Amino acid sequence: MDETTKKQPSADAKSALIAQNCSVIRAEATADELQTIHKIDVLASEQDISLSFLKELLSLPKNNAVKYLHAKARQAVENVYGDKIFLRGLVEITSFCRNNCNYCGIRRSNRTLERYRMTPETIMACCQDGYKYGMRTFVLQGGEDMWWTDERLGDLVSQIRAEYPDCAITLSMGERPRESYQRLFDLGANRYLLRHETADEQHYHYLHPEEMSFQNRMQCLQWLKEIGYQVGCGFMVGSPGQTPETIFKDLQFIRSFRPQMVGIGPFVATQHTPFADEPNGSVETTLRLLSTIRLLHPHVLLPSTTALGSLHPLGRELGILAGANVLMPNLSPVENRELYNIYDNKICLGDGIDHCYDCLSARMESTSRRIVVERGDFVG
Ligand code: SF4
Repeated sequence: MDETTKKQPSADAKSALIAQNCSVIRAEATADELQTIHKIDVLASEQDISLSFLKELLSLPKNNAVKYLHAKARQAVENVYGDKIFLRGLVEITSFCRNNCNYCGIRRSNRTLERYRMTPETIMACCQDGYKYGMRTFVLQGGEDMWWTDERLGDLVSQIRAEYPDCAITLSMGERPRESYQRLFDLGANRYLLRHETADEQHYHYLHPEEMSFQNRMQCLQWLKEIGYQVGCGFMVGSPGQTPETIFKDLQFIRSFRPQMVGIGPFVATQHTPFADEPNGSVETTLRLLSTIRLLHPHVLLPSTTALGSLHPLGRELGILAGANVLMPNLSPVENRELYNIYDNKICLGDGIDHCYDCLSARMESTSRRIVVERGDFVG
């Protein structure tokens, strides 16, 4: 049985899925809530937020203003993308990594992990499975594994491009030289995911070992954009050392960088990492930030992440109801999934794509949105 069906949602959790529209919520709001609702309208129309209002949004009790924030975000995404939810088929091609990020389960120093690298044949088989189930984007993700030279990765990209000309190829392979990004783009990769992790330099150094460079991370994102990739940045919600001030910098970075995608999910404490004993990030804060990002950047492609589903039985549905419009089912062979342990208690480790697809489709019915067979490119 799938992890997602083992965790039965409570009646309370189910009632969280009842989505009202803005006018109904406004009609039920108190005078105080209406004041906050007015500020949410200003946020949406100006596509900007102040630090003081961000702090207010993050500290509100769950009330009508919070419901309104989510409803407004749903309205914003539906204005651009209608009721569509796009799928990205995730293939975790390598669990080797040269880096040692303090939060990550596959960091180099974790000697307890059995490492793997998929063969190109296995990766192509994953794409074939994904295509059969309607996926028109393949995301090749891994640690910063230099075994995947430009030549090897380029050959793989070329092969996928030749066999699936109608699909987008997304890479999520970390920091590489500009020439490498260019070469992979020329061979047919379209998108690149590279979470910035935090837009605050001091916080970046708290999350990463000394040898990693905030400037280089930002430089890579800039190169990717200049080359012509659709670029995804993002951060964890509730990462150790995060404050409203650092989140504010993240939101301002998103406003100015205008990425095509933003991936945010709650921080999940993971064994064999320096942050193993830290508290997990909050699902509620993640949902509020998803809605805020949607209102700041209405066209952005925003995944409802597996990390959200790992911390709440209805996390992915709630993410969609907060303004997300992308899901990333895992196409990796079941035997590899547990080894790609970037964080603990990840869901969906035991089921193939046939089961995942049916499960996600059934779950999304409760959101009144629908999974579509499309590449789901950024609409700019
Ligand atoms: S977060 Fe990425 S770069 Fe950092 S250790 Fe994990 S896989 Fe490597």
